[in-house]
Amino acid sequence: MEVETMHETFTGNIHSLETFGLVDGPGVRFVVFMQGCRMRCKYCHNPETWKENCGEQWTPKALLKRALRYRMYWGKDGGITVSGGEPMLQVEFLTEFFKLAKQEGIHTALDTSGNPFTKEEPFYHQWLELIKYVDLVILDLKEMDPQKHKKLTGQENANILEMAEELSKRGVDLWVRHVLVPDLTDDEDGLKDLRLFLDKLKTVKRVEILPYHTLGLFKWEKLGIHYSLKDTPVPSEEQVAKAEQILGIEKKNQKER
Ligand code: SF4
Repeated sequence: MEVETMHETFTGNIHSLETFGLVDGPGVRFVVFMQGCRMRCKYCHNPETWKENCGEQWTPKALLKRALRYRMYWGKDGGITVSGGEPMLQVEFLTEFFKLAKQEGIHTALDTSGNPFTKEEPFYHQWLELIKYVDLVILDLKEMDPQKHKKLTGQENANILEMAEELSKRGVDLWVRHVLVPDLTDDEDGLKDLRLFLDKLKTVKRVEILPYHTLGLFKWEKLGIHYSLKDTPVPSEEQVAKAEQILGIEKKNQKER
C-alpha cells in the first residue's frame, strides 16, 4: 500500500516524449527525454534539457500508461528508452518507471552520459537498484583523456569509465557511442585508447560513431549561449570511416551482437 502511494505521488521532470524512436536502442521505441544535465558538451544538440527542476511532471505510473498506448509498434525487439538530458539525475523516478515497465515485460534501455555515477552513498545503492530493471545501457563515451574530457564537457570522466566497468562486471549489456568531432574527438590515439578500454569490457554489444552535426546550433542561439564550435566542420565520410576502422566497428559489432 505504501509503495502504491509512492507511485502516485512522486514525479519526474520530463522534457519531451517521442512515440516512434528508431535510433535510441533496438527496434521501435517509446523515448522519454528527461530534463536536467550537468555536463556541458560543446556539441550538445539538446541544451534546452540542461536546466534541472523544470519540464513536465509525470508519475512513473502515468508515464508507463502513456507508453503502453504504443506497445503494438514495438514488436519483439522494441520497447522503452529513457534519454535526456541526463536520466540518472532522477534515479529514483527512473528506477520506479523501469520497474513498472519490467513488470509488463517491456525491454528497457537507458541512454546516459554516466556523469551522475558515483560509488558514494546514497547514489550507489540507488544505482544498483536501478540496473536491476535495465536491459541495455547506451553509454556515450565522449573522450578517454581526462583533461580533454573536462575541456569538452566541463566534467571529469573517471566516474564514467568506472560505471562502464561496473556494468560490465554486473553483466549489463552496453551499446557505446562516440561523437566524432573533427580536431576534437577524432585523434587516432584517443580512438585507440577507446578501443583498448572497450576490449576490457565483457558486455559491449555494439559500438557506434555518431558524426558531429550542427542541427542543434539554433537552440544555443535561441538560449543566448555562446557556441564555441561554430567554425568546426562536420566530419567527412572518410573521417568517419577511418574512425570506424580504428574502433574496428563493423567487424566488432557483428561479433559482439
Ligand atoms: S551529456 Fe548529453 S545532454 Fe548533457 S550536455 Fe552532453 S550531449 Fe548535452
